[in-house]
Amino acid sequence: VGASRAAPMRTRTTCGYCGVGCSLEVLTRNGEITAVLPDHDGPVNRGHACVKGRFAHGFVASPDRLTRPLLRRDGRLEPVSWAEALEHVARGMRTAVAEGGPDAVAAISSARATNEENYLIQKFMRVVIGTNNVDNCSRLCHAPSAAGLTASFGLAGGTDLFEDAERADCLLVVGANPAEAHPVVGARLLQRVLRGAGLIVIDPRAVGLARYADTHLRPRPGTNVALFHGLAHVLLAEGLTDQEFLREHAIGLPELTELLAAYPPERAAAITGVTADGLVAAARLYGRAERPAIFYGLGVTEHLHGTDGVRALANLAILRGAVGPGIGYGVNPLRGQNNVQGASDMGALPDALPGYQKLGDPAARARAAAVWGVPVPARPGLRIPEMFAAARSGVLRALWVIGEDVCATDPDADRVAEALDSCPLVVCNELFLSETAGRADVVFPVASWLEKDGTFVNFDRRFQRVRPALDPPGEARPDFAVVHALAAELGVDLGCRTPADALAECGRIAPVFAGLTHERLDREGAVPWPCTDAGAPGEGRLYRERFATPDGLAHLASPPYLPPGEEPDHSYPLVLVTGRRWAHYNSGSMTRRTDDLRLDTVDLLDLHPADATRLGLRDGDPVVVESRHGRAELVARLTEETSPGQAFCAFHFPSSGVNTLTSSHSDTVTACPEYKVTAVRVSPARE
Ligand code: SF4
Repeated sequence: VGASRAAPMRTRTTCGYCGVGCSLEVLTRNGEITAVLPDHDGPVNRGHACVKGRFAHGFVASPDRLTRPLLRRDGRLEPVSWAEALEHVARGMRTAVAEGGPDAVAAISSARATNEENYLIQKFMRVVIGTNNVDNCSRLCHAPSAAGLTASFGLAGGTDLFEDAERADCLLVVGANPAEAHPVVGARLLQRVLRGAGLIVIDPRAVGLARYADTHLRPRPGTNVALFHGLAHVLLAEGLTDQEFLREHAIGLPELTELLAAYPPERAAAITGVTADGLVAAARLYGRAERPAIFYGLGVTEHLHGTDGVRALANLAILRGAVGPGIGYGVNPLRGQNNVQGASDMGALPDALPGYQKLGDPAARARAAAVWGVPVPARPGLRIPEMFAAARSGVLRALWVIGEDVCATDPDADRVAEALDSCPLVVCNELFLSETAGRADVVFPVASWLEKDGTFVNFDRRFQRVRPALDPPGEARPDFAVVHALAAELGVDLGCRTPADALAECGRIAPVFAGLTHERLDREGAVPWPCTDAGAPGEGRLYRERFATPDGLAHLASPPYLPPGEEPDHSYPLVLVTGRRWAHYNSGSMTRRTDDLRLDTVDLLDLHPADATRLGLRDGDPVVVESRHGRAELVARLTEETSPGQAFCAFHFPSSGVNTLTSSHSDTVTACPEYKVTAVRVSPARE
């Protein structure tokens, strides 16, 4: 029997696309993937997977893969040895520290990296460089969830495991399009609705689930806080609250009651553009359900007041007593990326150590210092937008970007490019020569999620194993090895030789991960955090006896509604919302390079037919979209999924320039960009 007839190798791993965290079985023969199958025992997916997980693997063998380090010489990136690339970066970082101190260096980590890699990256910045200038891509999506959920309940994660929340008899899905962005969860939510659960959808667009909704509210983008307050007003006014729960487990009701007097349904409707009747119907459905659960997405967080939105949404669950002790169907963010939860969990944050331990907590710093053998800097570092501003002003002198194509995915992209061009040393860990890598001084070729060993944390806080089904191509290495090698070049041994060691070490610093090891995950499959003891199961429900706030209570919040950063006007009359489509993922670097997924080949601009008629546009016409910040070229798609006066597009084809349109307005608490509200004008493209 020839080698080509040999039985395929089977590797069980976790999907590297969205935050659902489907378990997959990857079949390989002779170093090539022959199939990817959903794992029937997968704790989240139970034998299901979507088009991306099953078929979007062709990118691993793309001829575009980077296989050697690249170094810029005379303006061109040229292949060099690892030794030369590492030596150049180490010299550049030493120079940056000598000229500007440790805070002249920063790193951006991401969901592309495993937990262990994120742990090692933040350790590198704190131990080797001596700065807290480390952040991750959650800054661009769910940072308001971490801040809002922590302020309301005490911890920065969804409150319940999906299968518990899924038992709800009423689903409130807000600012999310799970049918496209989280397809396996979207399908399970739909199954629950088809078996009789009530469904309220709040989204400006007619997303896939909306056609099954009892009530679909379509608020104007940027008005969430007013809408949630309007719903809360009805809960209070109609006695649809849990008074015993509020007495025993919550604080802040008098202040909220006073605020909500200003948000009767008529006023909330006037601000948001929904009907007062629809708002009241939604509040009654949620308030009268026995087991209501909230699932939400980036339509709640990516706003100027995104953290306020999360807190106002959490108010509904607290008022109804539908979170934590008692019922516990909760408030659950649908995380967009495979390991965006884990990147923050591991402490790749400028103000927190692993396990969300605040830098201002001397005991947490002492615990980390005892393990690492060096003091931990106390001053919080820069957040991603602040890193770009510091680079433009000359304060930041070295930036290491790990797995993010910031020039394509961050808002106000022209200003991001300007920041990179201003920074004396830009280093990228990348699979491909992305927009960002193309501007870097050094590019390290790295392994993809199908070539890595470690763990991811999915949207409901489950740690699951990631295992290599393939070797990385050429000289590409896992990010884990690259961080170790650069530390060694700078004269520091970071310890924790293997990913398993790194997770174990993380557990010694962060008690909430103390019970997690690779060996345990290999045995048990998936374990949620908090998991403080190797002998105890992880906590599926975050709050059983009390909340994790200092006083053990859920905190009702009373933020007033404030308008978004941009409003449409005569010059820019439409409001653009950006989001994801089914067949692609983020900047599309992996899905665009997979032949099986040539379903969308350009970024489309969804327009309501009434607006298109006014603009003289037909379906399929090329269009120019202009905002106060930039210009993009897209193709019109006429659909009533989008409300009149609004437009929608994805950002899967960076060459279209979508993120030159988006503004630098960001959440006032977390600096998460306001991707969901950009005033634009649209015109036919000239041939
Ligand atoms: Fe992967 Fe998400 Fe699809 Fe599951 S639903 S296969 S995790 S992209």
